[in-house]
Amino acid sequence: MRPTPRPGIMDITAYVGGRAQLSGVKTVFKLSSNESPLGPSPAVAAAMDQAKASLHIYPEGSARILREAIAAAHGLDAERIVCSGDGSDMILTMLANAYLQPGDEALFSEHAFLVYRIITLANSAVPVTVPERLTNHGLVVDVDAMLAAVTPKTRIVFIANPNNPTGSYLSRDEMARLHAGLPKDVLLVIDAAYAEYVTAADYDAGIALVSRSENVVMTRTFSKIFGMAALRLGWCYAPPAVVDVLNRIRGPFNVSTLQQLAGVAAIGDRAHIEKSVAHNSKWLAWVTDEIRKTGLRVDDSAANFVLIHFPEGPKNRAAADEFLNRGGVILRAVEAYGLPDALRMSIGTEEENRRAVALIQDFMAS
Ligand SMILES: *Cc1c(COP(=O)(O)O)cnc(C)c1O
Repeated sequence: MRPTPRPGIMDITAYVGGRAQLSGVKTVFKLSSNESPLGPSPAVAAAMDQAKASLHIYPEGSARILREAIAAAHGLDAERIVCSGDGSDMILTMLANAYLQPGDEALFSEHAFLVYRIITLANSAVPVTVPERLTNHGLVVDVDAMLAAVTPKTRIVFIANPNNPTGSYLSRDEMARLHAGLPKDVLLVIDAAYAEYVTAADYDAGIALVSRSENVVMTRTFSKIFGMAALRLGWCYAPPAVVDVLNRIRGPFNVSTLQQLAGVAAIGDRAHIEKSVAHNSKWLAWVTDEIRKTGLRVDDSAANFVLIHFPEGPKNRAAADEFLNRGGVILRAVEAYGLPDALRMSIGTEEENRRAVALIQDFMAS
């Protein structure tokens, strides 16, 4: 006899992050985790220095100063924001914990972010995956197929918008159509981790939809454009009833003083965010074009990474991965996302982008 976990937990494949090291290679170009090549605003380090004086005092439990800074930046009601000191992943986890019962179904697309499956299984619920549409732009969430897959057991629909690792997004109208087709008691979770990068005019992170609905939550993170992945800070904007639920189940001091001050500083540095968006837009376009010139399929991306597909045969994905690794570049294999032919490349510094593209060109020419 020994303690046994809930049904479903042993079906989980533990999440493995992007590789950071290569044996025998000194200078590594890590383009495997969609981190910001520009790092955080300099104001973040200064704020963290300031927090050192009060490490012995419990943080303010509701992350009030951070919620107010986020609310001011986005024109939101601070009472409808919940923050997390363990990334937006923890917001997603809390939503699954709160709204999924054993046997319930959580719906997401075939190549959706892996965390959705993990948090569904952790609650003994059933992951239901829906095939995506292959368009001229790449793989896209199929709204009609998603709606067709809703059953009386469906409790949550998770959509990353833009999605990782495909890079595609649903327009404001498509998301509204998905929402309109869902029963009122199904929670639509819009994971907008990459929202700041998107420049398309028909994109919306979901704020308006949350504002006018009882069953939509938008999650956001400081891990991507803000360059603070190590700090593990995330938040959500939600209807009052969902906020009430999250505030009951979250840890009482779930955002440290260090994190709160760092988040406020980051949100306040608009210039740094704009610089990061400009860097990404420029290099996303360049990387996409240059890799396409080698004949490889690169899907359109609205985020800070591209999905590169390799053919079968000698120029296959495994061979490309090995070739890049020998040159010190780490991309992300995405077999676990149902994409065994592809590598995901994060947009890095100019040097990193040029290095990765040169290696891919060499690989295809060799
Ligand atoms: C990176 C990422 C997140 C962010 O997770 P954090 O826990 O906030 O670091 C969330 N969703 C998707 C789809 C991501 O790619």
